[in-house]
Amino acid sequence: MSEAFRAEARAWLEANFPPSLAFKNPVPYQNDAPYAEGDPDWIVWRDRMAEKGWGAPGWPKMYGGGELDHEQTKILTQEMRRIGAFNPMKMTGYTMLGPTLLEFGTEEQKAQHLPGVAKGVTRWCQGFSEPGAGSDLASLQTKCVDMGDHYLVEGQKIWTSGANHADWCFALVRTDTSSKQGGISFLLIDMKSEGVETRPITLISGSTHFCEMFLNAVKVPKENLVGEINKGWGIAKRLLQFERDSLSEGRGEGVPLLPLAQERVGTDAEGRIADSDLRTRLVAHAMRAQAYNLTMGRIAAEGKAGQRNDALVPVLKNLGSDVAQVRADLIMEILGEQGLGWSGEGYSDVELDASHQWLHARAFSIYGGSFEIQNNIAAKVLLGLPSAPAPGR
Ligand SMILES: Cc1cc2nc3c(=O)[nH]c(=O)nc-3n(C[C@H](O)[C@H](O)[C@H](O)COP(=O)(O)OP(=O)(O)OC[C@H]3O[C@@H](n4cnc5c(N)ncnc54)[C@H](O)[C@@H]3O)c2cc1C
Repeated sequence: MSEAFRAEARAWLEANFPPSLAFKNPVPYQNDAPYAEGDPDWIVWRDRMAEKGWGAPGWPKMYGGGELDHEQTKILTQEMRRIGAFNPMKMTGYTMLGPTLLEFGTEEQKAQHLPGVAKGVTRWCQGFSEPGAGSDLASLQTKCVDMGDHYLVEGQKIWTSGANHADWCFALVRTDTSSKQGGISFLLIDMKSEGVETRPITLISGSTHFCEMFLNAVKVPKENLVGEINKGWGIAKRLLQFERDSLSEGRGEGVPLLPLAQERVGTDAEGRIADSDLRTRLVAHAMRAQAYNLTMGRIAAEGKAGQRNDALVPVLKNLGSDVAQVRADLIMEILGEQGLGWSGEGYSDVELDASHQWLHARAFSIYGGSFEIQNNIAAKVLLGLPSAPAPGR
């Protein structure tokens, strides 16, 4: 049965995936419009996947999904990796909002928002962080007042990836100041609403993939509240699990390391990579990545058997970040000076992608909850250690 599906997936991917996109990084920065809109092959690939329902393989067909079961989804992912293909819908809307709405949304919210995500045509951003609320997210202050027939939202968000290209934002807002976590609600905000202002933050590289976001007396219809008022913290925690799940998934993808090293560093008389120290580290990395991927596979299988263990999510997020950062370091080392280009002539696509990826990889251990915070959660949840004392105690 699964072998028949593998053959079907393989044949379809080979007929439909544009080879020009092979092993290219799918979404270098979430919602990056120039990438998504500038490459015609990318659009072709997105639309074919949307039509097939394989951009959201496990979702119900009524929302644009493919209704594949867990095993089929896994096979599809394996077959995509084999040829360097990727899921073009894998952006904020698909990885974070979609599963959250499937669990907590009303029928109307699911019908309104999920199909656009499954087709890759609606872009979402995540309005969680604020200038005084990053790791300590529950300190957020963006005010949301019930005006009777609508909500009025006032405040500032920061580090909002892709806000300047997004159609919608899922945001955490404060609806009660008397309780920290119990005063937060989860709201869907149309980015075209009057009073929404985004200011891209320019990075040293010149790219501007995230923004400050100002919400100046923004009117939000009441039907855009997900779940109950003041119960948004529970929804946010679930969404952060989906985010960390997706961030820990699929690390170690991209251009295959060993052939790259053989080509760039050269081989000795026995056909081994010429630099023995690099060879040892490549093998160590390959073993660690393999162990990590096998663990991910085991956990997915346990989840399928009803033994999902969410306590492992922070550990996997940290391990996945580490595997991906070491991989990015190794590629840079293999490429040497050719890994230092940013744009323009004199560098191949693989080389340019490597330098972008290396810089981007620095952020893996920050976003979605920093490395230290994941360790704190693991210490508390897995080891049963007490929380850190409040500052000054
Ligand atoms: C590339 C990128 C994209 C992002 N995209 C988004 C987005 O789309 N939407 C969004 O809402 N946010 C986004 N973020 C924000 C991200 O979630 C926050 O940066 C992150 O949660 C850390 O918060 P902070 O930056 O305020 O750092 P802080 O909380 O100020 O932390 C600074 C340092 O102190 C450490 N630290 C803090 N508290 C503790 C503690 N109790 N114990 C031990 N160490 C501690 C942290 O681990 C970190 O090393 C993005 C960030 C990056 C880098």
